[in-house]
Formats: sequence, structure tokens, C-alpha cells
Amino acid sequence: MELDQHIERVLWTEDKIAKRVVELASEISEDFKELHSPLVVIGVATGAFLFLADIVRKITLPVLVDFIQVQSYGSGTTSNGAPQIVHDIKIDIRGKHVLVVEDIVDTGNTLSCLISHLESQGASSVSVCTFLDKPYRREITVELKGEGKFYRGFECPDNFVVGYGMDYAELYRNLPYVGVLKPELYE
Ligand code: 5GP
Ligand code: MG
Ligand code: MG
Repeated sequence: MELDQHIERVLWTEDKIAKRVVELASEISEDFKELHSPLVVIGVATGAFLFLADIVRKITLPVLVDFIQVQSYGSGTTSNGAPQIVHDIKIDIRGKHVLVVEDIVDTGNTLSCLISHLESQGASSVSVCTFLDKPYRREITVELKGEGKFYRGFECPDNFVVGYGMDYAELYRNLPYVGVLKPELYE
């Protein structure tokens, strides 16, 4: 069976995504152009791998790239609320400006955990660029200190979405667009 047939409807096409990525990257390039050291771009594995790959190629400043992995979702569709860092960054971020690249911010639990972790490692500032955002689902306010900025690609409707890096039970990450999974596939 073709992967496409698992999708009920497409929310963002490959083309729409590519255009938004260019806009975000130019905003970021403008905002950080005065930095004297490379911007440290930290992708949240695994969901942000495609978004990270796309956005860094459109950022016109020097960047260092690393990944961090946080576990907060089992194979289901709701957060278990207790995120854990299962793979840490290798770059020393003391005194550096950091941009966290996420696939989607939902309850905010994962991101809040990440921000305090990166701040405790001595980052000068922590900013966030999430591809999708479900702001009405927050259980915790995501607080960015000082110069920290928040960028988002699109506000996401209250559906479980897959594709463009995002999974259901590790599947669908390779879809080049974002869509809503047919509910019968996870209910
Ligand atoms: P939070 O901790 O903000 O509740 O959730 C963070 C993580 O849950 C996201 O980074 C993402 O990996 C996953 N997540 C939240 N909503 C969705 C969704 O609609 N689809 C998929 N595939 N993952 C989601
Ligand atoms: Mg994620
Ligand atoms: Mg997941």
C-alpha cells in the first residue's frame, strides 16, 4: 500500500513548506547577523531532521549544527508529560547563542525541559524555531529569557499530523508534506 493512502488530508504541501522555510531563514539570518560567533542550531531528533536540513541551507550566517533527543511520546499520540533527554549535544554552548529547531510544540513540556537544560549549560541565549505550533494546547508557558526569540512556521489545527519528519510509531517521517493521518490507523 502506498504511504499517501494513509493520509486523510494534506495540510501543508511541499511547496508551501519550502516557501515558509525561506521566510523563516531570512528572518533568522537578519535577527542574528550581528553575532560574533556562529549560531548553534540544535535540532530536536528525530522529528526536526528534515526541517533542520532545509532551514540551515537557507540561513546565510555561519552555524554549528548538533542534535539533541528528548523522549516524551511513546508510540501513541499524546504526551506522557515527563520528557527525558536521552541523547545530549556534543558542542560546548557556554557563552553561545542557541537556536532550537523543533518539529512541533504541543503541551510545551518538551521545549521547557530543553530550554532549562540548555540554559543550565551556559548558553548566552536560547531561541526556538518550531515548524508547527499548537498554542491552544499548552500545559506550560514556554519562557525565553533575554534575547531569546520564538519563530514558528505555521499554527497547527488540533489534529495529529505526520510527515516532513513527524511520525506515528516511527512511520511517515519521509512524507514530503504534512498531513492528517486517517484516524482508523491509530485509534
Ligand atoms: P509537547 O512536549 O510539546 O507536548 O510535545 C512535543 C513533541 O510531541 C513534539 O516535538 C512532537 O515530536 C510530538 N507531537 C506533538 N504533536 C504531534 C502531532 O500532531 N504529530 C506528531 N507526529 N507528533 C506530535
Ligand atoms: Mg519534536
Ligand atoms: Mg514522535
